[in-house]
Amino acid sequence: VVVAKNIRKSFGGLQVLKGVSLTVEGGEVVALIGGSGSGKSTFLRCLNGLESVDSGEIEVAGHRMSRKPAELRRLRRDVGIVFQSYNLFPHLTAGENIMLAPVQVKGIGKDAARSEAKRCLSLVGLGDRFEAYPDMLSGGQQQRVAIARSLAMQPKVLLFDEVTSALDPELTGEVLAVIEKLARDGMTMILVTHEMGFARRVANRTIFMRDGIIHEEGPSAEFFSSPKTPELRAFLHAEV
Ligand code: ATP
Ligand code: MG
Repeated sequence: VVVAKNIRKSFGGLQVLKGVSLTVEGGEVVALIGGSGSGKSTFLRCLNGLESVDSGEIEVAGHRMSRKPAELRRLRRDVGIVFQSYNLFPHLTAGENIMLAPVQVKGIGKDAARSEAKRCLSLVGLGDRFEAYPDMLSGGQQQRVAIARSLAMQPKVLLFDEVTSALDPELTGEVLAVIEKLARDGMTMILVTHEMGFARRVANRTIFMRDGIIHEEGPSAEFFSSPKTPELRAFLHAEV
């Protein structure tokens, strides 16, 4: 579902991605970990075309990455991305926030979009909060609305960039539980996370990025129990 080959990306003179290759199969969950500035967010943003790559090839959900706006739009519809900041519109209810893209981008009728929004809110455990405005919801609930908003586009791949980092510890669990449920339902996901226990338990594979390359990767169980490189060992040691 995701194939990235030898991705390179620089900002000015700074080479942030130095040849990153990754293949993710349908239904697979891949965790991406690594220190600040290692290129995790940039890589995710390249995967859904928010950043253009300098070289390399990307194919996601059957779409070749393209600079052509129409092709890029088609790719983006199938590749959801959820950020640390939820970016909900404050003047719209939870339900209206979720309906927006299906109506405006996909041209779905309002009634169909409303029932799909309700279904997605139920999936994230907020079936009764359709009419709530974002400022009436906790951070964890707002982040779950943001996930529901992505789900309403019926993406083939979901990308998560540190979606719990802005949350208090007691709210982190409810968001991770939603992601875990999506994993059980077979959603293909790539998640940048600092939650090592969660990565170990939920991700099929974990990838350690360091200085713009994939430094080490493996099935999560092995990856965490017997890290091979001293750099990963040091990183895991510092995280706990
Ligand atoms: P963190 O864990 O802090 O989120 P990260 O692994 O996600 O880090 P990136 O956000 O991908 O790291 O950034 C990698 C490097 O690229 C950093 O040095 C950052 O300053 C730089 N960078 C990212 N985006 C831009 C941009 N739009 N313009 C210039 N430099 C950028
Ligand atoms: Mg980042």
